[in-house]
Amino acid sequence: MKRTNSEALYTKAKTLFPGGVNSPVRAFKSVDGVPLFMKKGDGAKIWDEDGNEFVDFCCSWGPLILGHNNRYVREKITEALANGSSFGAPTKLENELAELILSNNKFLEKIRFTSSGTEAVMSGIRLARGYTGRDKIIKFDGCYHGHADSLLVKAGSGLATFGTSSSAGVPEAFSHETIVLPLNDEEAVKEAVSKYGKEIATIIIEPIPANNGLLLQRPEFLKFLREICTENGILLFFDEVISGFRVGFEGAAGLYDIQPDIITYGKIIGGGLPVGAYGASHEIMGHIAPEGNVYQAGTLSGNPVAMAAGLAQLQECLKPGFYKDQENRTRYFVDQINAHCQDKGYNFEIFTIGSIFWLAFSDAEAIRSAAEIRSESMEDFKKLYSLLLEEGIYLGPSGYEVGFISEAHTKEILQAVASKFKSALDQLFVTA
Ligand SMILES: *Cc1c(COP(=O)(O)O)cnc(C)c1O
Repeated sequence: MKRTNSEALYTKAKTLFPGGVNSPVRAFKSVDGVPLFMKKGDGAKIWDEDGNEFVDFCCSWGPLILGHNNRYVREKITEALANGSSFGAPTKLENELAELILSNNKFLEKIRFTSSGTEAVMSGIRLARGYTGRDKIIKFDGCYHGHADSLLVKAGSGLATFGTSSSAGVPEAFSHETIVLPLNDEEAVKEAVSKYGKEIATIIIEPIPANNGLLLQRPEFLKFLREICTENGILLFFDEVISGFRVGFEGAAGLYDIQPDIITYGKIIGGGLPVGAYGASHEIMGHIAPEGNVYQAGTLSGNPVAMAAGLAQLQECLKPGFYKDQENRTRYFVDQINAHCQDKGYNFEIFTIGSIFWLAFSDAEAIRSAAEIRSESMEDFKKLYSLLLEEGIYLGPSGYEVGFISEAHTKEILQAVASKFKSALDQLFVTA
């Protein structure tokens, strides 16, 4: 596979950006070779600057649930753009997207748009603290919530102790307000809540953790979180930046039928343009400025072009059978590969929910916490990644990242990819 143009662009980019990129995982540090510079996408396919063609399972890390360059989304963007790109004043499109979301989601009454998932989560945390008058938060090891200071915290030593920051530049005082616990562990949560209950503003979780492998939780664990939050005046915070509009229009809240107190969205909500959102009940959202005293703002929040893209995409997601069909095609793809691996006795399995999938070098029945992922398996991922890339299959360049299937990934495309996938696995396991 030719990478001459990507190599030249990367060399140049390294003089312009730290590590040559504007977001770390793009730098291909966990796989071989330089990052591919993308030129064009259409449907399920993308093309890089060297003219290589790939079936894309990264889908911009999730936003593109209709695939690349969807005609309907593009038309709505163009239409909005013709009227000007930004006003910093309210527009009708904001009302339309909010109404579409709220009238199809029984877990929310009011919403506020931001420009990224990070911003949405950061604001939701501030809201939880402002509303409860408490400072501490609980998060889980293996969940990602964007790069706001109080969330860049990893577990300290021992259970129910304060975390330590996972990035330089985060004051230690901040990480002392964040308690990091293992997923899938009721006892750890009980212990932390009994110790710090009255100080805890919120328990934040990705209800479908999909940023560090796909760590599917037992619904009972999520229900337990709901109960312990209610009993202790703690707000339950579902970060649905990935799972929102992905496993169903109402995300994981709808899938498990659990009412969180605060929900955040990102990715799919913007139709490929930068949008995030946080929402809650009228009562809780009433604490946000200018109604309340929790401040949050944004120059480009509710940007009309981005709203138009979100509207177009979410309208498509509301078509009858959309999510069932997404899931069916994902199962069709994943089942073939899993059956092959079982047949051959390979230590490999694809975990899936809705149209999300994750490649695991494991024969475990379930992987529910970050500690259960074998870090050595990332060497196998690296080899598989190169084999797949050579076959024209593009995944996010890290074994901890999940893949996505879009509406544009037809059965025909998936059938062809599954065959290539199986032979790549044969090469990997037979030569290994
Ligand atoms: C992607 C993601 C974020 C961060 O969103 P950005 O738009 O990248 O800032 C936060 N939480 C979850 C669960 C995510 O998947």
